[in-house]
This record gives sequence, C-alpha cells and structure tokens, in this order.
Amino acid sequence: MLIQGFCVLNFTSSSQNLPLDTIELNGEYIVLYENNIWAYTISPEEHKREVALTKGMDLFRNYWNNDITFACSYPDPGPIPDTITLILTDTKRKFVMPYYGRINSGFGWRSGRKHNGLDIDLKRGAPVKSAFDGKIRYAKFNDGGYGNLVIIRHFNGLETYYSHLNEINVKPNEIVKAGQIIGTGGNSGARWTGEHLHFEMRWMDHPFDPLKIIEYDSLRLFSDTLILTKSDFVMKQSHKAYLSYINGQAVANNAKTSPAPASTAAASSNTRTSYRVHPSEVPNYHTVKKGDTLSGIAYRYGTSVDALCRKNGLTKTSVLQIGQKIKIK
Ligand SMILES: [Zn+2]
Repeated sequence: MLIQGFCVLNFTSSSQNLPLDTIELNGEYIVLYENNIWAYTISPEEHKREVALTKGMDLFRNYWNNDITFACSYPDPGPIPDTITLILTDTKRKFVMPYYGRINSGFGWRSGRKHNGLDIDLKRGAPVKSAFDGKIRYAKFNDGGYGNLVIIRHFNGLETYYSHLNEINVKPNEIVKAGQIIGTGGNSGARWTGEHLHFEMRWMDHPFDPLKIIEYDSLRLFSDTLILTKSDFVMKQSHKAYLSYINGQAVANNAKTSPAPASTAAASSNTRTSYRVHPSEVPNYHTVKKGDTLSGIAYRYGTSVDALCRKNGLTKTSVLQIGQKIKIK
C-alpha cells in the first residue's frame, strides 16, 4: 500500500505529481515526486495503526515549514488534547540517545524562565545523532537563542530539537534514520554557557521532559509507547530540585560503594571524573588525575570500588598516585 506521510495517496487527485524515483531505506520504499513530496510504502497493518494514532494527519505536509521553529503553533497555537498516545519504537523503528554525557540542566524552571529541554555536556565536535527515524524540518542558524539548530519531525509526530550545534550535517527535507549523525556539538547561540547540547522533545510545539521517556543511564526508553497527558506539558518541576536529584543520585551511588567521607563524594560529583561514561566507551585502563577517588572512578565507569580493588590489588583506603593506571575491565 502506498501512503504519503500517514495518508493514503489518492491517485486521481495527485495525478499531477509524477513519481520521479524510488529509494529503498532499510526495507521500506520511499517514492519521490516531482513536487518534492515523498511517500513511503509500509504494510497495511502498520498503515492502519499509524493512521489511527495520528488521526489521519499528514505529518510531513501539515505545519511543514523549514523557516519557523514552532511551525504548528504559527499563526495559532493549537489546544493540547487530554491524552496523546504515540508509538515510539517497534521492531523497525528504534531509539538512539543523541549524545550521552552529564546532564547539566534539566527540563524545568531556571532562574524564573522555562528551560524546555536537557542540557547535555559535551566537547566541541562531538557527534550528535538523530533520536528516531524522521525528516529534517529545520536546519540552520536560529537567532532566537538556539544557535545552529536542527529540528527533526518523526513518524509519530514528535519533534526533537538539537541546539547550539557547531556544525550542521543535514539539509531541510532530508530523511534521517535513528542514530544518524546530524551535526556536531558546540555552543553556537549560547552566550553565557559552555559547549553543550540543548535537546528538546515537543509534540505539536509543546515541550515535555525527555526524561519522561528516556531511562538515561541505560540509554533505553521506558516503553515503546508514550502516553502524554495535559499535565506533562505543565512545567512544574523546579530546576533546582531536578539538579539535586541528579547529584543526589551520584552521591548516593558513591556512598554505597565506598567508605569515602561524604564531602569527598560530594566534591567528586562536581568534577568531570564523576561523569558516567557510556557502557560502550568504558576503557580498559583509567589514568589517575588530580582529584580522582576510587569511588569517583567506579561511578564513572559503572563499576564498584570492590571490583576495582580486586582487579588492581588495592584496598579501599589505598592512596592513588597521579598518573597511576587503574585497570577497569
Ligand atoms: Zn538548554
């Protein structure tokens, strides 16, 4: 069955749009038309499900604008329905965390202003990936504060925002897959802060907390399905409370695995050594730097002080030397 966005193509009314080419993308066929519209083919069951979920909206034509950030609410902001149910992932469509790093700032109120996403610490040039399959709706410099910004609309209608990029690697209307590198991290448009990825999730322009769906330390989604209610769009969480939750978790983790005094654990949670490294990037060895503690190193690489002691012939009270190599794996 041939569908366009989520609507069945009516061949009589679209006969003026001649198909130019067909592309295969991971088992799905995408048909390009001469007026730059594209369509793709999926199974009838999938089609039925998606039309039901999106109430027949053609996601890649309605409110489609390459120049406006909040395309759905322009010129009129739409109302938020009581409940929205969306399929996030399935056997064909997966999720990839755009970048994994310490979250410096969460979704919530910050200094009396709304902070609509997550600020994820990164270094300039770090690859930033698309969270889901989708189509690039916006890819250029935004002088409203986002800096170099990419907005991707996904097949369930959600949009993700990737802001303060150093470089943009995609063009508007390009189709991207989950995990595809869409740009590199930086601090464009971020006047007072360092390099970070500002990452937002929005439904019909309304932002909600990405951590509602992402189980951050495992880099998985809580569920394949997302149920959003009106209250998810209300920014009730205070930024401070959120930060203490993140730090609290780090401190609690350290405290569990180490007899180190609370002050050491608390201090190490504020240094780069306490950032948790993605499991796939855990190195064989860690070279001790100033301020490193066994508990900090254990937290960073997702292991325990006991395991580090065993592997390295250390005791919990061993003094670490700067430059010393600690076996991690
Ligand atoms: Zn931010």
